[in-house]
Amino acid sequence: MSTIEIKNVTKKFGDFTAVRDASLSVQPGEVVCLLGPSGCGKTTTLRMIAGLERATTGDVIIAGKEMNNLPPEKRDIAMVFQFYALYPALTVGQNIAMPLHSEGLSKDEMDKRVMKVAKIMHLDTVMNRMPSHISEGEKQRLAVARAIVRDPNCFLFDEPLSRLDVELRHSMRGQIKEVLQGLSKATVIVTHDQLEALTMANRIAIMKDGMIEQVGTPHEVFAKPANVFVASFIGTPQMNLLDADFASFKGGKAKVALAGKGLEIAANPAVEGLKPSKVKIGIRPRAFTTVSEQAGDTIAAQAELIEPMGAETLIHARTAGGGDIRVVVPREKRVKTGETLHLRPDPRQTHFFGEDGKAVRQ
Ligand code: ATP
Repeated sequence: MSTIEIKNVTKKFGDFTAVRDASLSVQPGEVVCLLGPSGCGKTTTLRMIAGLERATTGDVIIAGKEMNNLPPEKRDIAMVFQFYALYPALTVGQNIAMPLHSEGLSKDEMDKRVMKVAKIMHLDTVMNRMPSHISEGEKQRLAVARAIVRDPNCFLFDEPLSRLDVELRHSMRGQIKEVLQGLSKATVIVTHDQLEALTMANRIAIMKDGMIEQVGTPHEVFAKPANVFVASFIGTPQMNLLDADFASFKGGKAKVALAGKGLEIAANPAVEGLKPSKVKIGIRPRAFTTVSEQAGDTIAAQAELIEPMGAETLIHARTAGGGDIRVVVPREKRVKTGETLHLRPDPRQTHFFGEDGKAVRQ
């Protein structure tokens, strides 16, 4: 069965720890994206799964078998790199067939497999062209076709779409996702593009400084970030993380001092367990209602910069306490620079983070 599992994997380069105690399991048919900022250890993790790097400690298990000491060619995986190398002197069809030559198939069987994959990847009309005579999108699809033609244990993709322009990326995301869904293989995709991860993955593993910070469905990591890092990394525009002093919790409401003002805001019941302390309150820019007058649960902020974004407008505002706050309003709502906004956070979308940066959860 096509599964990938890493257990407590650490990778050191000399004194430097690139990946620290990472654990993850990927089921057949599941696509997991490794997502995080540059240098957080995504590619190193993928290379350890592929066997291109050996883990310093921990286990890599593919299709139920421990692979720690096996070289890449014995792991039966297919990998698509950012810089895919196509054979320039071979046609598209011959490029797809290349990985099959070592499998001892009859010519008929080989042709059948190649044509099947070419159809899936919409390459069947360009089979006789050379790679230099096909588009960037077709080259990308050809790289994927070569990976899936062989029926390997699992797939690994390293920034597969980063060379494509925005429009092509968008359509390729959908196409690759559709193909992977039909294949029942465990797949790991490395990307630093959150939109790519949110649209292609069944689950996302978010990494920072060599550690996996949270693993969850796109909805979970967006709606229930485990800590301040995930909260600020996922979602555009970025979530507001407002410094506040938590005082008490009663009747579903938290009393806090925020932006120079005492405030009572609805919070999840787990907040009851908090001692009076410094917290961060996370509120997404789209999770405010603007109201006409100040109230016990509103935050006042002065609009400083107004950025039209098409159907919506992004407002950068400043609270009385001097903090920045980002608010997204519908385009119809006219806001002027210098205007004071009274912002009511949506209680269902208000996140509390303790002094350790972790979400306060039930
Ligand atoms: P990017 O998105 O920029 O590709 P990444 O998340 O994939 O980043 P890695 O390539 O896994 O990051 O690198 C993680 C860290 O390990 C980086 O600080 C990198 O410089 C370091 N690193 C990677 N390979 C080596 C190596 N062979 N020797 C020393 N350090 C390395």
